[in-house]
Amino acid sequence: MSLDGRVAVVTGGASGMGEATARLLAGSGAVVTVVDLDADGAERVSDGCGGRALVGDVSDPVFCSQAIDGVVDANGRIDVLVNAAGIVLRADAAGTDDDQWRRMMAVNVDGVFFMSRAAVGHMVDRRSGSIINFGSIWGDVGAAGVVAYCASKGAVHQITRAMALDYAADGIRINAVAPGEVNTPMLSAGRPAPPTAEDLQRLADETIPMGRLAEPEEVARVVAFLASDDASYMTGSIVAVDAGYTAR
Ligand code: NAD
Repeated sequence: MSLDGRVAVVTGGASGMGEATARLLAGSGAVVTVVDLDADGAERVSDGCGGRALVGDVSDPVFCSQAIDGVVDANGRIDVLVNAAGIVLRADAAGTDDDQWRRMMAVNVDGVFFMSRAAVGHMVDRRSGSIINFGSIWGDVGAAGVVAYCASKGAVHQITRAMALDYAADGIRINAVAPGEVNTPMLSAGRPAPPTAEDLQRLADETIPMGRLAEPEEVARVVAFLASDDASYMTGSIVAVDAGYTAR
C-alpha cells in the first residue's frame, strides 16, 4: 500500500490513534500535517513524521477552514483528511452538565463536520479525496455511563454516511473506523484513577471477544487502508475494528 506524495491532515495527531495514523501515513509516503490542541505533542509527532504541526481547536470553524486552506496553499491540494481528535466524558445524563454536553458535541461532532466541510471544498475541485472519521463501537451500540460520548459518535457515523452520499459522484470517499477499546491515553481520561493492568485485563475478559485491547497501530493500519487506493470501492462504510465487540 502506497500513499506516495499524498497530502494528508490528521487531527488529534499528537496522541494515541491519531499519532499512530500520522506516523503510518508518513511512513507510507504521505506528506502529513498534524492538527492538535496539544502544541508539544503536535510538534513531537510532526517532527517524527517530517511534516508540519498546526495548533488549534477543531471546534472552531474559522480555525478549521484556515487550517485546511493553509495546507492547500502550502502543498497545492489535500488528498486525505483523518478526523481523530476527540474527547470522552464518563457520566450518565444526570451527571452531565450543560457545558460538558456542549463541549462534547463541539469537539466530537462540530470538529468532524467543520474539518470535513473545509476539506471537501478543495477535494471537489480535484474530483478526488478520502476522509476517514473516528467513530466508535459506542456510536452503534449503547453503553452505560457515557451518554454524551455515545451521542457524539452516533452523529459521527451519520455525518460519514450522509457526506459519503453527497460526494460519491465527485470522486470523494468518506468512511469511518469504529474502534473498540484501544490502549491510548483516552482509556484513563475522566476516571478517578488510571486503570491498572489488572483492571484492563478484567475489562477485556468481560467485554471483548478476542480477550484483549487493541494497540493504536492496529486501528491506524485500517485507516491507512481506507485512505489508500486499495479501498477504491469503499465509501459510506463504518468499519468496526473491535475484536468482535459488536458482532454479538
Ligand atoms: P487520545 O486522547 O490519545 O488523543 C486524542 C487527541 O485529540 C489528543 O492529542 C488531543 O489533544 C486531541 N484533541 C482533543 N480535543 C481537541 C480539539 N478540540 N482540537 C484539536 N485536538 C483535540 O485519544 P485516542 O484514544 O487516540 O482517540 C482518537 C479517536 O478515537 C477519538 O475520536 C476517540 O473518541 C476515538 N476512539 C477512541 C477509543 C479508545 O478506546 N481509545 C475507542 C473508540 C474511539
